[in-house]
Amino acid sequence: MLNKPPATRLLPCPRCRYDLRGRVVGEHCPECGWTIDTFGPVWWDESLLKRMMLFARVAAIPCWILLLVPLHFIFVVANADFASIEFTFGIFCVLMPIQVIAQAVAMFAMGDTRLGESRARALFWAAIVRVAAFGLAAFVLYLEWSVARDHLLAVSYFVLPLFAVGSDIVTSRVLASLEAEACPILWTKPRTRVKVARGTLWIVYPFLLVPFIGWYFAPIIWTVAMAYCFGELRGVADASRTAARSLRAGAAPLP
Ligand SMILES: [Zn+2]
Repeated sequence: MLNKPPATRLLPCPRCRYDLRGRVVGEHCPECGWTIDTFGPVWWDESLLKRMMLFARVAAIPCWILLLVPLHFIFVVANADFASIEFTFGIFCVLMPIQVIAQAVAMFAMGDTRLGESRARALFWAAIVRVAAFGLAAFVLYLEWSVARDHLLAVSYFVLPLFAVGSDIVTSRVLASLEAEACPILWTKPRTRVKVARGTLWIVYPFLLVPFIGWYFAPIIWTVAMAYCFGELRGVADASRTAARSLRAGAAPLP
């Protein structure tokens, strides 16, 4: 006797990735014949969800800490203490690499093939592109100071942020797709603030090119957006763990 299956359930077949929407445990995959032995997406694995929760935090916290840079800049302007702008730059030079490295480490750690080949690959390459873009930007700034090459600076001003923001849009889409797969089972909807955060990533690059206002506010929007995306992932992984545990304990599918 079959329970009435949740109609919106999404469960990619772990063998052939066929969409097993609406089927229940005990049924067979019509494509490859695999017996459905688990509720939820294939990445609802205790160890993987735990890892996602940990590394979502590893990625999110440095984003919030990075906001110390624009905050310090406000103090510099408010006190007209322009000598200490060097300190603003100093904390930027420490916190920015920490954020870039922490996010890349998190993306490598979460890019598990159980998320699906394409998601794992997207996270891997987005991390590579992001680290390369920031690394090249630092290298170009160094060259600018040591040998003064203006055209290089122009290229890095227009091209490198495009790759860095682009890689983060890819990352946010991957995280959103995980959320979309889990939410119908969790019976929750993605929170508005994370949808807004994902949407604002699209305006970061053009806004970044607007002198002064954009240079100041675009990185703030960017940082907060990524902090929300990873924060939301942590919430989704946490709720998925709870749901997976209760489903494994033999409870009926969630109401
Ligand atoms: Zn299958």
